[in-house]
Amino acid sequence: MFDIAGKRNIFEALIALIHPDMLQRTFFAFARETWTGFLHLLYPELCAGCGGELPAGNDACFCLHCRMKVSVSDMHLTRENEFTNRFWGRLPVESAAAMYYFSRKSPVQRALHQLKYHNKPEIGVKIGREFGKRLLASGLYRSVEAIIPVPLHPRKERLRGYNQSTMFARGLAETMEIPVLDKVLVRQAYTETQTRKKRMDRFKNMHDVFGVKKAAPLAGKHLLLVDDVLTTGATLELCGQALLAVPDIRLSLATMAIAVI
Ligand SMILES: [Zn+2]
Repeated sequence: MFDIAGKRNIFEALIALIHPDMLQRTFFAFARETWTGFLHLLYPELCAGCGGELPAGNDACFCLHCRMKVSVSDMHLTRENEFTNRFWGRLPVESAAAMYYFSRKSPVQRALHQLKYHNKPEIGVKIGREFGKRLLASGLYRSVEAIIPVPLHPRKERLRGYNQSTMFARGLAETMEIPVLDKVLVRQAYTETQTRKKRMDRFKNMHDVFGVKKAAPLAGKHLLLVDDVLTTGATLELCGQALLAVPDIRLSLATMAIAVI
């Protein structure tokens, strides 16, 4: 295969032993690392909790210091937990979990603030990737077939440039290897007649704010509906009710954080 005998010295012989594919792979690995290092110099990865620089090649959301200050929930391991309890009698839920506990002035609060108001969509993706791994490990979410983010009001999405729940959904989808369906659930913009209605009437109309498009392919599927933070659960409940109009679906819920109420 290799012509070693004709080489003048040991070095030439050794080089001849290296397969051209190996050289090519080594070169590309070297080029990739150099490029990543260069990008890191220009745009260092920052911790979402304190803004400190993360080591090159580290795509974690928080630095070690902030990691010690965040409360990671393990509610994804149990079918009944604080999350599912909030939906008792309101929405039939298969499984539900949040990644973090939300508390004031915590790195989680700062990360979610950065995600929503400081043009940092990658924070949602990173939390999603991490949580996706945990959900798969728990077993309760292995049968999930698609992820549906709670839609943002269209006007808000235009202003922000992205929907933070969709970013979280994309991260989850990467590690869970299932699709994100972000066109299925729609938040209908308020109409002129709705804004003219009295306050109470408008509240009653909240039930009509979310709708489902192209419901037929969803029939019989296990869907994961996702939002940024769980507080009262009003939005997830409305979205969940809209999705339950699809025949035979099973519904699970996930958020980046759960707030104490
Ligand atoms: Zn930090």
